[in-house]
Amino acid sequence: MTAPNNAPGLPWASVDLGPLLPMGVYTCHETWNPERIGALALYCSDGRWGEAFDEFCHKRLLIPRYDRWAVPGGPAWLVPREGGGDLYQATRTQLDFLVRVHQLERIVLIAHYGCAFYRELLHQSADDCLSAQLDDLGTVRTTLRTWFPEIEVEAYLAMQRGKSLSFHQLSDGSITP
Ligand SMILES: [Zn+2]
Repeated sequence: MTAPNNAPGLPWASVDLGPLLPMGVYTCHETWNPERIGALALYCSDGRWGEAFDEFCHKRLLIPRYDRWAVPGGPAWLVPREGGGDLYQATRTQLDFLVRVHQLERIVLIAHYGCAFYRELLHQSADDCLSAQLDDLGTVRTTLRTWFPEIEVEAYLAMQRGKSLSFHQLSDGSITP
């Protein structure tokens, strides 16, 4: 097995790495694109879902290079809770920053089935946590629309049955398939 050490079309002799850097250990096939897409997705950091979230955002929502905000429970951080510490305020502060500096126009919220954050919070089965997760998604979407009226906010549930993963949009009334 050989590790790639040259990105296609990038002759290393012409790349200035700057001073005082040790030898690179890996060079990406991905190349830098400075254009921002103006979209952020807030979702759970559970690594088993990461590729699916990326695929959904890239192929269905068509937001390449979107800002990824991955924290345990994802949108759940924006629900004020007893004993929730400073998560809510910290999240607000960081969102304000990103909206301003990254010129966000769209925020995507994704909750997922079987989220350990809710299992821990509610001590219920994955199925039994679903209604609380959907309620929270709706609450957070409303909160964000109030905070940032010019920004498009949408919310999804990522569902899992066996090996199948699917995404369902929270309409203003309920979940739509
Ligand atoms: Zn989770």
